[in-house]
Amino acid sequence: MSTQPEANLNLRRQLPPLGQDVRAPKTAALIARSLRRLIFRGELREGDALPSENDLREQFNVSRPTLREALRILESEGLVVVRRGLHGGAYVQVPTVEAAARQIGSLLQYRGTTLLDFYEARAILEAPAAGLAARRRSKADLERLRGLVAYGRSRGANLEVMDAHHDFHMAVVELSGSQTLIVLSAMIAVIEREANASFATANLEEDQRQRLWRRGQRAHDEVIRLIAERDAEGATQHWRTHLIASADVLRRAVPETSVLELLV
Ligand SMILES: [Zn+2]
Repeated sequence: MSTQPEANLNLRRQLPPLGQDVRAPKTAALIARSLRRLIFRGELREGDALPSENDLREQFNVSRPTLREALRILESEGLVVVRRGLHGGAYVQVPTVEAAARQIGSLLQYRGTTLLDFYEARAILEAPAAGLAARRRSKADLERLRGLVAYGRSRGANLEVMDAHHDFHMAVVELSGSQTLIVLSAMIAVIEREANASFATANLEEDQRQRLWRRGQRAHDEVIRLIAERDAEGATQHWRTHLIASADVLRRAVPETSVLELLV
């Protein structure tokens, strides 16, 4: 216990002296935070120009390099684009699922994530959404789900229908009402669409695809029934089984050690 203050003291001695170069980034980070809040609160919207450099410098009472550092922070987060030229300046960009998916996709690839790992996580994440949907659904929600299944059925088993299949899955997640689950699942859907995972579906033999499609249709009918009955437990269990079964078929179409690869 007595060595603790000593350790802190040693640490402090190793720090560089507090000069302009240490303070400037901190000030820049604070300015970035103020501007970020305005964007998150919707006071600055997509495409809005930020006030001019002079106005911002005056408002925050900072030097030009500090303000530019703040804008670079927001630019690196994709919240601001800085344009040069006549109508130059900093403009607001709102965060998108696609941009986040690109970042997460890069991270997954960098870590050598396998398709198996990816499918597993999807099943873990999506299954409880069906349970939440069963608790929260309205009559109109049920109609929406039934409409999506009917649309899929009318198109038969082809690759286009795989998109209809994905739309149904996304709709179930949306009915969960959980923004966190919706964003995470939407990101996973973007990654799956842009990754070699989609090739797994394309690589299936015709009879495998037909079987997968028929099984999918039955599973979707059943989840609607459970959601309609507000059977949260049953819907979660059923959805997990369906997701794992679908992943199993896809996994057989690609080698177990296949690494997730984004193709765009
Ligand atoms: Zn499905």
